[in-house]
Amino acid sequence: MKVKCVICDKICELDDQSLLAKRLRNRPIHTFMCHECHERISKRTRDRWASGKFVLHLPAEGRKGLRS
Ligand SMILES: [Zn+2]
Repeated sequence: MKVKCVICDKICELDDQSLLAKRLRNRPIHTFMCHECHERISKRTRDRWASGKFVLHLPAEGRKGLRS
């Protein structure tokens, strides 16, 4: 199957049998991110962590766990 990267619009060919392809078929296609963009985003996230300005938005159940 063909998927388009949501960041750079690159078209990628995914193996239909791969876990990612199966997951994308059940979800909106715009959740796909190519490898390059994924690397870039995760690097940026790490940089933000390092700067101490990164605010982690915990899901509701995570916050509940912290409060108790
Ligand atoms: Zn991309």
